[in-house]
Amino acid sequence: MAAEPGQPGTVLITGAGRGLGRELARQYARAGWRVIACGRAFPADGFEERVEFQPLDVTDPASIRSLASRLADRPLDVLVNNAAVRSRAPGLVALEPEAFLDVISTNTLAPILMAKALLPNLRLAAGPVIANIGSRAGSMAEGLLDDDDDDYAYRCSKAALNMATVQLARDLKPAGITVLALHPGWVKTDMGGPEAALPAEDSARGLCEIIHCASVEDSGSFLTFDGKRVGW
Ligand code: NDP
Repeated sequence: MAAEPGQPGTVLITGAGRGLGRELARQYARAGWRVIACGRAFPADGFEERVEFQPLDVTDPASIRSLASRLADRPLDVLVNNAAVRSRAPGLVALEPEAFLDVISTNTLAPILMAKALLPNLRLAAGPVIANIGSRAGSMAEGLLDDDDDDYAYRCSKAALNMATVQLARDLKPAGITVLALHPGWVKTDMGGPEAALPAEDSARGLCEIIHCASVEDSGSFLTFDGKRVGW
């Protein structure tokens, strides 16, 4: 189990400058955690107290390595791989190889590189958790049921992130590290849009609760923000 809210746990969140990442940072900080909020730029309206900003472009391996060296020897209880992008021009006709690979780089490769780079920090914590913010859009079992999204790159990137999650879960279980794929729901953010069903506050609250309650027996699970299992 991750450190109790209110106890001196440390969480690192990618893409924490806006959207769901921003709300996760706020809620962890209010619960007394030390928050390492990572982003490409410091947000204009700043962060809460107890939030430390670290510059990070997740598509740049040198930026990830530099972050890891700045954090050397600091235990990390929770790593939230949240940063993600969608295609600017979705649909088969508009698909361009380079744009497709940019989405894969951000949404799939970056979370794996983050786990690799911060493994020494996670190993220093008791019951650490890696939470990969995925999407039901990447579920082959459920992703097409009531969703007419035609963003090939986004769907493929999140499907691949699911496999990365189960592989990491298997590899890191002996070290006691729990790895989860989490669907945040359809959330009101720049990505989710104003019509989305869920305020970011509600999604983040649910995600924090799941991360907090997860143990290594849950590792490799794909769960919604309100605790339901998602078919792969
Ligand atoms: P937003 O588009 O609102 O925010 C995305 C965040 O990712 C921003 O902080 C952005 O930073 C950051 N980011 C993008 N690229 C990079 C990069 N190269 N390096 C560092 N940071 C980067 O998305 P949401 O908050 O809605 O989404 C959060 C997570 O939830 C994502 O993983 C998304 O796929 C997932 N999700 C969201 C849903 C929704 O309905 N909103 C539904 C299902 C899943 P910057 O400001 O620099 O661009």
